[in-house]
Amino acid sequence: MTNFDQNTKYFREAEEAGLLLKGDGRNKSYRTYEFRACGHAQEIKPCHVRVGNFRCNTCLLEKLQQEAEAVGLILIGDGKNCAFKTYKFKECGHTQEIQASFVRRSKSIRCQSCLSERLEQEADAVGLILKGKGKNKNYRTYECKTCGHTQELKPNHVRDDNFRCNKCLLDKLKQEAEAVGLTLIGLGERKNYKEYKFKDCGHMQELSPARVRDNQFRCQTCLSDRLKQEAEKVGLILIGEAKEKAKGYRTYEFKNCGHTQVIDIGCVRNNSFICQTCEDTSFSQPSNIYLIKISNDGKSWLKLGYAKVVNNRYKEYGLPNSALIEEVLVVPIATGKAARELELEIHKRYKKDQLSKRLTKSMGMSISGFGECYPIDMKETLFNCVMGLA
Ligand SMILES: [Zn+2]
Ligand SMILES: [Zn+2]
Ligand SMILES: [Zn+2]
Ligand SMILES: [Zn+2]
Ligand SMILES: [Zn+2]
Repeated sequence: MTNFDQNTKYFREAEEAGLLLKGDGRNKSYRTYEFRACGHAQEIKPCHVRVGNFRCNTCLLEKLQQEAEAVGLILIGDGKNCAFKTYKFKECGHTQEIQASFVRRSKSIRCQSCLSERLEQEADAVGLILKGKGKNKNYRTYECKTCGHTQELKPNHVRDDNFRCNKCLLDKLKQEAEAVGLTLIGLGERKNYKEYKFKDCGHMQELSPARVRDNQFRCQTCLSDRLKQEAEKVGLILIGEAKEKAKGYRTYEFKNCGHTQVIDIGCVRNNSFICQTCEDTSFSQPSNIYLIKISNDGKSWLKLGYAKVVNNRYKEYGLPNSALIEEVLVVPIATGKAARELELEIHKRYKKDQLSKRLTKSMGMSISGFGECYPIDMKETLFNCVMGLA
């Protein structure tokens, strides 16, 4: 093919592609063409013209410039790859590489340099240094100027000064725990609670750090162990918390009768409680007033009381096995209620003659609350009184 023939062919191909062949290009691979539509000239390879693989670069550039203008940018050059271009922000003068397609789609574009400057200032204002990116775009890494710890924070929390150094907080919680005999183990199940270990007993417990700080806590496991033992001593079984969650109360079961009842833990400790269910029943059932002589360790004294079943009652005094009990008098009474009233009346009448509680305790009446005892010389007086009243 002669040069003339070839040029004729290129000319025809250009015509078909909407171009005008103007002359040679930078080397023999290129020719210079003019776009019929816009009049711009451009060097293109004839093989690209043939397959339609070209566009007007001048028009493209103008389009990109217009798109940049529209969002306050000036296109100043290429970017790291063909998708990116380098732009300059008209307002602040900062330059930034941005995807051209992003510029096209956006209504406004944020200057990252200005944003960083603002975040740095906001950090500085609250004693932090902005160090860099965070785990995701919502976080940044900051360093605390005072302690040097680094931490990821949300910039809006930094702006509002709504943050604290978690490492310092942890150190503080650890120290507070140590100060009151605890070891901080980790997070608690409940929000704002932490898991602690008691150094004394080794039990673990969730506590709020505020309670630890104020030393307002106790080991619930130890407490419950102690309450179990205390209950055991007085014929009760600790069942659990009181239903109504009343502080200082627990639910117990009476070993004797099987009834359950919510009782003050202090009353359990002092053995000053009765089974309300049994009490209520016994009030309407026949009962007895009794007067017994108790002898132990060379001492003797009298005890006046009432009971549905007298023998059962004696067992509840917690007397030592060596104690001897002699019935002086057992008088049947129609109801427990009447028996109780009668008993109270007698006790009231002879209150001044009663042995002191301390004395009866020292004589082996380990169970208090049933301590209305009398000296032996009251035997006849009490006998007559019961007989007279009953
Ligand atoms: Zn053009
Ligand atoms: Zn800027
Ligand atoms: Zn810190
Ligand atoms: Zn404990
Ligand atoms: Zn009962």
